Amino acid sequence: MAGWEENIRRVNPYTPGEQPQGKDIIKLNTNENPYPPSPKTIEVMKSMDFGSVGRRYPDPNAKGLVGALASYYHVGTDQIFIGNGSDDVLSVAFLAFFNSEKPIVFPDVTYSFYPVWAQMYRIPYREIPLDADFRILPEDYESENGGVVIANPNAPTGVALPLTELEKIIRSNSDAIVIVDEAYVDYGGDSALRLLDRYDNLVVVRTFSKSRALAGARIGFAISSPRLIQVMNDVEQSVNSYPLSTMSLLAGEASVADEEYFRERIRDVLRTRARSVIELKKRFFTILPSETNFLFAAPTRISGNEMFEQLRERGVFVRHFSSERLNDYLRITIGTDREMDVLFAAIDEIQE
Ligand code: PMP
Repeated sequence: MAGWEENIRRVNPYTPGEQPQGKDIIKLNTNENPYPPSPKTIEVMKSMDFGSVGRRYPDPNAKGLVGALASYYHVGTDQIFIGNGSDDVLSVAFLAFFNSEKPIVFPDVTYSFYPVWAQMYRIPYREIPLDADFRILPEDYESENGGVVIANPNAPTGVALPLTELEKIIRSNSDAIVIVDEAYVDYGGDSALRLLDRYDNLVVVRTFSKSRALAGARIGFAISSPRLIQVMNDVEQSVNSYPLSTMSLLAGEASVADEEYFRERIRDVLRTRARSVIELKKRFFTILPSETNFLFAAPTRISGNEMFEQLRERGVFVRHFSSERLNDYLRITIGTDREMDVLFAAIDEIQE
């Protein structure tokens, strides 16, 4: 074995959902938005002067997008951190805030990237089981720790924690940073942004990948106090001066400016979600209450894995997790009504 072998960092990377290609497939496996980004965003991309945009480095302060988000959320420009998707933002936050010998804590079950970053950055961690109804219990988060991460609404369950409950966790952990990952909050959860004025240990993380239909542009951001945002910027600037391309910065800014389109598409997804719950119940699925753009639903006639495989054979992609607690369930992204109809027809055929 070569000497350098022992110096290699060994990691177990996060596995993203697959990105199958092909026109006829129905892709309900990565919680993307089924609708395109705002037409105004598309227009900005089309009319961009790529000759100059491509030649120059992006604005390292991302002033345009930071300014747009600061006005939108009524916070200072020094309270916004921009990253390359919220995965980047979360990764920077882990690096920036979790430097204690004490373990950080997050639920078991939650976004499966959290343990990966913890391992990558050698942060000790402890996972706290959800209760029997897949709920987070604030009293479980009162023991001493090096930090807390809560996805709210949670993934892949879709279940939201009421703000009063989340506030208990933030309040009882005043000596540690609490990161609240709000990737799905635009679909119904209560945002912790309202608590920012009251707690100096709170960092709220958001993404443009779901409700703003810009997963391909890779835009995420954090909102917190100027002090904590400064720390995140210092960490990011020690790794990469330009985490976002100018194209993405322009797309993000245009998206924030088109509020009407944003609201309409959220309404469309919520309408289809309500209908999908009814249709899946007719087909004997057990479904967790969702405040997101996906449903965590278990078929009861055949196993989760069997349903997953059979849907896949029919060109319908959903997500299945093989861990013991989750393997009865499928995570089904809310698509267009037409896409959902194809899913329901495929389920009928499988369960015939
Ligand atoms: N947090 C949660 C809970 C997610 O489900 C996802 C999507 N995989 C992300 C963060 C990351 O999203 P993105 O990097 O596209 O912003």
